[in-house]
Parts: sequence; structure tokens; C-alpha cells
Amino acid sequence: MTEMQLRINERQEEVLEAIWCAGENKKYSLTDIQKKCSTDIIAEDLLALEQQGMIVKTTDKVVFSSKGKEHAEAIIRRHRLAEVLVTSILKLKKTEMERIACQVEHSLLPEVEESICTLLGHPEVCPDGRPIPQGPCCKNGHRTVNKTVTPLNELEPGEQGKITYIKPGSHSNWHQLMSFGLMPGVVVAMHRKKPAFCIKFEQMELALDEEIVKNIFVWKIG
Ligand SMILES: [Zn+2]
Ligand SMILES: [Zn+2]
Ligand SMILES: [Zn+2]
Repeated sequence: MTEMQLRINERQEEVLEAIWCAGENKKYSLTDIQKKCSTDIIAEDLLALEQQGMIVKTTDKVVFSSKGKEHAEAIIRRHRLAEVLVTSILKLKKTEMERIACQVEHSLLPEVEESICTLLGHPEVCPDGRPIPQGPCCKNGHRTVNKTVTPLNELEPGEQGKITYIKPGSHSNWHQLMSFGLMPGVVVAMHRKKPAFCIKFEQMELALDEEIVKNIFVWKIG
């Protein structure tokens, strides 16, 4: 088999996630695992996970190998961080939160994951109250995000960034910002910082208070 074939696919990652969640309730049967899984568990995926040394299957139980446990822990961490992110920024309904978290968990790059975790203050539980496994950033107690994500006020005139997060509840202009179209995903450029902050985005120029600018976080893109 080639390296490619050995890679765990998204469906198999969902199965690992389900095994983890069932295990949190001390349940290990396939029926209990299926209840926790967003997709139908097929024999082929179980076999693949077994062959890759991720799980050990007996007649009535499916348990992790240490390698499988490590892998599942990483997925769970990304899933639950995504839940925190999605609920704190977008205030989505629970069903939406689950769907998006399940998409994000398969594609989040490690460096992005660390930035998000740091931005969110290394959350210990997800919105459902389940524990979020710690990452290196939590263990090292990083207080500030790495260079890629910065508060908007730290961009120099001419620099651009894509909004990743607007800290909610810290100012009353939150809804106003949204109505201007200032929201996660939007690319903004720092126009000038003196005498007041002025940013540019989508052919608009907007003067903002420093207090607001400080609570908008961006990915620096040059
Ligand atoms: Zn998932
Ligand atoms: Zn959760
Ligand atoms: Zn962390």
C-alpha cells in the first residue's frame, strides 16, 4: 500500500470521533458508537482503521490502540475548538454548530488550530460542557497569538488582513459593524492610524474607535 492509501479519510475520522465520544460515557459497543457517529459506520472503514493499527476490535467492543487514541484526541480537540469558535463568533444554533465543527475538524492546520485556541483563551470545555483535550499552546500557556493573527490596530498603514474573529460583547457597535459588512472572512486594509483609525474594505472607508479596532482580529496577508 502507498502512503496515500494509508491516510485516514474523513469518514474514518468521524468513526474515531464517535469511538471517543462513546468512550466518554464508558460505552464501547458498536451500537453505542454508531449512536455517536454522524455517518453510517461501514465494515470497510472499521477494517481500514484496524489495519492501520488505530483500533482493536473484539466481538462486542471497539477500543483504541494508543496510536488511535492520540489521533482521535487531536480530532476531538479540533472539533470542540471549532464549536467554541463557531458559537462565540457566529452564534449559530446547535445543529449548525455540529455540522460546521465536523467540517472544520478535518481541515484545520495545526498552526491555525493553535492560533484559534490562543485567541479563545485556551478553552477547557466545549459549549456542550465536554472537555477539550489540551494542545501544546495550552500547556505552554501562550498568552499572545503568533504573528499570523493580530489585532487590527497592530496593522501598519498599507497592510492588509482577513478578519478571523471579532470579539463580541466588548462594544455596542457589534451589530453596526456587521451591518457595514465587517465580519469574519472580509479583507480589510489599514488606511491610516492617525489622527484616528481609518480602515478600507470593499471600496469603503471607515473611521473606527481604537477600542473597536483592538477587538477585531485579522490574519495578516501583507
Ligand atoms: Zn465530526
Ligand atoms: Zn461539544
Ligand atoms: Zn491552547
